Amino acid sequence: MTKSRAQCAAYGCNSYAYKCPHLTRFHAFPSGDSARCEDWARRLFRADLLGKANEHKWKRAVVCS
Ligand SMILES: [Zn+2]
Repeated sequence: MTKSRAQCAAYGCNSYAYKCPHLTRFHAFPSGDSARCEDWARRLFRADLLGKANEHKWKRAVVCS
C-alpha cells in the first residue's frame, strides 16, 4: 500500500481516493477529537480502529460519501 493512496475506512467499501469517481468525497476523521473518532470507528464496524492504541490510524483514515 502506498501513502498516496487513501482507502475508505468503511467496512466492505473498496473506494480509493485515486480510483473513485470524480464526485466521490472523502472525509477525514475528526482529528484531535478522540471521542468522535471512536464513534466513527464504531459506526463503520471497524473494531480494529477502536482504542487509543489505534489513534495513529485515524489521522490517515478517510470515509467516502
Ligand atoms: Zn467508502
